[in-house]
Amino acid sequence: MDREATNTYLKTHGILPEAKFGQNFLCDEGIAASIIESAEIRSGDRVLEIGPGIGALSRPLSKLDISLVCVEIDKRLASVLRDDPEITAEITDSDFLKLKDYGAGEFDVVISNLPYYVMTDIMKKLYGECTKARRMVFMVEEDALDRIMATPRTKQYGPLSVLTSLYGTASVVTRVPGSSFIPAPKTTSAVICLESDGNGLSRELVSFVDQCFMNRRKKLKAALKCYDSVTVAGAYADLGLDDNTRAEEVEPEAFLRLYNDIINAKSQRGTL
Ligand code: SAM
Repeated sequence: MDREATNTYLKTHGILPEAKFGQNFLCDEGIAASIIESAEIRSGDRVLEIGPGIGALSRPLSKLDISLVCVEIDKRLASVLRDDPEITAEITDSDFLKLKDYGAGEFDVVISNLPYYVMTDIMKKLYGECTKARRMVFMVEEDALDRIMATPRTKQYGPLSVLTSLYGTASVVTRVPGSSFIPAPKTTSAVICLESDGNGLSRELVSFVDQCFMNRRKKLKAALKCYDSVTVAGAYADLGLDDNTRAEEVEPEAFLRLYNDIINAKSQRGTL
């Protein structure tokens, strides 16, 4: 829907956008089309959309030969979408961050014009749970790109950049001005496409990386105190890390090796 149609739709259904849910509705069909195109959806795919709003993406997605699941926190919007004859998705009215048992491992593609106030938490949950997704395409605040794509030894480098890098390859599809939304946010947005390298992450890996960055000013070793010290020393030797290393100096791949050395060693001991 364009700007005029979006305004009419909101008026007809008596919807006032809720700032507390980060509701800025996309009203640019060209941007919606480029988001969907960059997701490279295939016939028969199972697609997850977080925060469908009034259907800027779900409406065109409904025209594809896919099975679409949408998770919307706002019960009013979920109900409007269920009654919309142009939308064929299965609509779940829940806070995605609290959602369990949604068949996370079965999704091929994830798409979202993310609510910016919970962007990081939603991305981490998706990385940890949608382990088979080939692609994830997100609308984010342009400023967040620095954190998503940061490299080691920079201020912005943290769990989100590590996990994004471990998930696969990230590229910016397009920048989106505030005027493409109703209401217009103050900042520019960007569409980012993440292509999986096929290895998939896990909830445990996401928690481990979070834990490593818990106190950025301290040495990484302090964050690993809860693990067996001999195992940690072995992992450090394996990776050529020294005791003074801080999390922000560690490459994404090294976090994965650290995780494998420490956590896998722990679970192997647990099964003996
Ligand atoms: N996809 C629509 C579009 O492009 O116009 C709406 C995008 S709007 C930026 C974000 C949407 O996410 C809103 O519909 C909001 O209600 C929903 N949302 C916010 N927090 C959520 C959460 N925790 N779980 C699920 N949906 C959420």
